[in-house]
Amino acid sequence: MKAIKVIEPFKVEIVDVPKPEIEKEDDVIVRITSGGICGSDIGIWNGTNSLATYPRLIGHEFGGIVESVGSAVTSVKPGDKVAVDPVVSCGHCYACKIGRHNVCSTLEVMGVHRDGGFAEYVKADEANIHVFHKDFDESLLGIVEPFTIGVEINRRGQIHEGDQVLIMGAGPIGICAMQVAKRNGASVMMTDLVKERLDKALSMGADEVVLVSEENLEERINKFTNGEGIPVIVDTVCIPSSFEQSVQLACPAGRIVVIGLKNQPSSITMADITKKELTIVGSRLNNNCFDEVIEGFEDGSLNPQDLMTKTYNYKDIMDALTMIKEHPQDVLKIVLKFED
Ligand SMILES: [Zn+2]
Ligand SMILES: [Zn+2]
Repeated sequence: MKAIKVIEPFKVEIVDVPKPEIEKEDDVIVRITSGGICGSDIGIWNGTNSLATYPRLIGHEFGGIVESVGSAVTSVKPGDKVAVDPVVSCGHCYACKIGRHNVCSTLEVMGVHRDGGFAEYVKADEANIHVFHKDFDESLLGIVEPFTIGVEINRRGQIHEGDQVLIMGAGPIGICAMQVAKRNGASVMMTDLVKERLDKALSMGADEVVLVSEENLEERINKFTNGEGIPVIVDTVCIPSSFEQSVQLACPAGRIVVIGLKNQPSSITMADITKKELTIVGSRLNNNCFDEVIEGFEDGSLNPQDLMTKTYNYKDIMDALTMIKEHPQDVLKIVLKFED
């Protein structure tokens, strides 16, 4: 079968690799129909993803149709449309034992630490396979995963009905987090430096948007919250200054969700956190969020169609990567289709 392999930074090839076979009783083999390209795939391609090792079959956003299942598999059957959770954990470390397997001490992500889903067929454990109950567009099966990042952010930020939320950054993760927050009954203000992204965010459900290069964010927040200040902030910009700004903008007893993986320090004092008794939480990958996203796709409260900027055949991976590199502001999600 064919798969997309990053041999070393900047060297991508369509390679022939053996088709996976059922070995364990809970193995499931999926014929991949759709894969989403993520910022971290770009990082593996251009050598800036510090977590990746080479060579690597990339892709952690992928889904398709079940081809075959092991003898003990009961939750899926051949022909089912599914999305695959790329998070692989040990099951017995502290984090796993308390139900936080997405930060397992020996965490592996398919497509990053081990081979991933940009291939014609993929094998995964039954526990990682999540079924669609309706007949869903095959090209969208691969973009459940980015919305699971949005669900995890909402769970970590305890975003509920009636919450007022500021999401900094209207890229794909910001948009996914916004749609999940709306689904949870919150009202959402989003910021960005690019007007087109904010227009898109508005069309996808954001209540208010702020072009921070031209408008005063604090004034807009004051209006949005009747002078209370903002109780929940999600920072998808992920630079030291955006983290500092979140701590400054949050109202007393506020909650801040950070998702950045950069190692640059921010200047935040203990007093900044203590005085307002802020809750600052990290959110990484997803902790069993796939079924919630599939439910949202099927009931229409989450809209993957609008996230998808363009589709490419997987063999044109270089064109897709070049599109993202040259027009980053125009792209929310590029989807690869796995067909001849
Ligand atoms: Zn991703
Ligand atoms: Zn573990």
